Amino acid sequence: MLIDCHVHAYTKKQITKLLLSMKKNRIDKSVIMYWPNIGGTKVPKINEVLKNIRNYPNLFLASSIRITDDRKFNREFEELKNILSKKQIVGVKLYLGYEHFFANDPRCNKIYELCIKYNIPVIYHTGDTWNLKNAMVRFTNPIYIDDVAVKFPKLKILISHLGNPCWIKETAEVIYKNKNVFTDFCGTLSFPGRFEKEYNNNLKKEILELVAYCGTPRKLLFGSDFDLYKQEQYIKFLESFTEFSKTDLEYIRHKNAEKLFKI
Ligand SMILES: [Zn+2]
Repeated sequence: MLIDCHVHAYTKKQITKLLLSMKKNRIDKSVIMYWPNIGGTKVPKINEVLKNIRNYPNLFLASSIRITDDRKFNREFEELKNILSKKQIVGVKLYLGYEHFFANDPRCNKIYELCIKYNIPVIYHTGDTWNLKNAMVRFTNPIYIDDVAVKFPKLKILISHLGNPCWIKETAEVIYKNKNVFTDFCGTLSFPGRFEKEYNNNLKKEILELVAYCGTPRKLLFGSDFDLYKQEQYIKFLESFTEFSKTDLEYIRHKNAEKLFKI
């Protein structure tokens, strides 16, 4: 069993491409992270995405909401409450850095309470912010997620992208000290380039340090960030960890995701 805890696909065409990739790579389930149309990139409305995945029991959706858009927040919050009451989503993704707010911003508290009520995780974008024009990386520091984890011990939390590259150690500490916090390595590998091998080797070392610091693989999830990346690239990367036992790999490949997302 293999679960990809972080993919992007919204239109029918993108979803067909995702399903094809999952079949090819023997991925049993994928969790789609909604993009709340920050900046220029436009994706279909959440209800349309829900409609597009309706016939595929192996696809799940984490919704999203813009925290800093005062004009739209109330409407989006009502929408979120509505789809949650129908149990149509498995998480709420917040885009730290792409929007200018820290994880411990009091404006998020309403979201956290809602996630607790429906027993679904909040997922944070952390670390590098690609080339999005107005993004500010300091907001993505996972150290502020510790405040949330302590204040809301019943809230399940996923730190996406390990806080890579600035804060993998911070992520290790936050997931180690809080029972309710997990992380994944999606979207962290190098694109083809001159120092690709060196970069990926270094990342592997840092992930091993993180797991060793936690003393368990029960805090790490498999994810790819398809279709920014190819899913096979991440499978190959996970297979390169000869340090992990078969049992360790079962947690990383699917058991941790099953526990977190209840899928
Ligand atoms: Zn992503």
